[in-house]
Amino acid sequence: MKCLNCRTEMTNNLVQTKKDRMSYDICEDCGSLWLDAGELDKMAFQVDGSIEVCSKDKVEDASGPGKDCPRCDGTTLDKVSFVGSGLFLDRCANCEGFWLDGGELGLVNKELLDIMPVKGKGFSEFVNNVHLPYWYKRVRKKSSETDFKVDVLPIKGAELKSQTEHVCPTCQANLNIYTVFGIEFEGCSTCKGVLLNRDELSKLKDKATRDTWRELRWMDDEVEAVGRANVMPSGRTCPKCSGVHLVTTCFGDSTILIDWCSKCNSLWLDRDEIQGIIEYLREKLNKLPSDEMKKKVLDEIKEIWTGPESKISEILDAKAAISALINITIFEHPSLCQRLMLLSEVIPIR
Ligand SMILES: [Zn+2]
Ligand SMILES: [Zn+2]
Ligand SMILES: [Zn+2]
Ligand SMILES: [Zn+2]
Repeated sequence: MKCLNCRTEMTNNLVQTKKDRMSYDICEDCGSLWLDAGELDKMAFQVDGSIEVCSKDKVEDASGPGKDCPRCDGTTLDKVSFVGSGLFLDRCANCEGFWLDGGELGLVNKELLDIMPVKGKGFSEFVNNVHLPYWYKRVRKKSSETDFKVDVLPIKGAELKSQTEHVCPTCQANLNIYTVFGIEFEGCSTCKGVLLNRDELSKLKDKATRDTWRELRWMDDEVEAVGRANVMPSGRTCPKCSGVHLVTTCFGDSTILIDWCSKCNSLWLDRDEIQGIIEYLREKLNKLPSDEMKKKVLDEIKEIWTGPESKISEILDAKAAISALINITIFEHPSLCQRLMLLSEVIPIR
């Protein structure tokens, strides 16, 4: 791993304590740090609960394009607010690692001190190799000896099953079959778009409308709102129906545009659209009346969707998938469907 600020080869430190093993990469020139998912939490061992989970929301970054994630090809780091504070850190939405510029760890430490009492020297003990109790052991290596890559999957937590003959409407690569939460879907390994068909969607929709999901009725708003949404022809072709063009419509009452095939009812979501939907749903979730309600909903989801790890990110990703599926009911709306059909037939599509 090369430093994202000064391109110096970084040094990987593996710190062994009585309790845990911590690994981080540091630039010995400018003091920048790379912390993989979970490492910041391990460093903050005196703090109860996770300090990484709070940093989900991306904020607009006025300082130009984000840095590239050193773990995930083709992924840029987002600026996120550290535990809702005025401190903004670079974080990868795919591998959930943090990039800290030189000195930022000190700011994290300071922020934590404001929130809750932390004994000792906080993070500096690890990073500066000072005040280390005798039972610490540290192994230093060149980062390049310990580097690894994290796959960017069309939907987080998905598993690759097989290849298909279908062609990606966005980048023309062949689509693969993936599974996530027990549901199969087609996706593109190159551009990370996903194709969700009606059956897959209904399966999830059925789960989502079970009695225990009554709290999620607010999702219906999105479904109804789509009836009022504008529909535009898209220049893309359905991967399943040769020669049939997709049409573009809005997701819920958001401004996120999704592509739909009026013949086979498949829904095509670009990578950024999935991300957008996740953020849109996260916002919706935040607007729920009370914290208690929020917790209840999260518990419900946890129960139904037992992902590989029960992390909030996975729950939210599951919600995005579900909502995308619920959204398909709009296409069962006869008048909208007719409108879509008319549009796709009448309007010449390039
Ligand atoms: Zn550096
Ligand atoms: Zn990453
Ligand atoms: Zn593609
Ligand atoms: Zn189709």
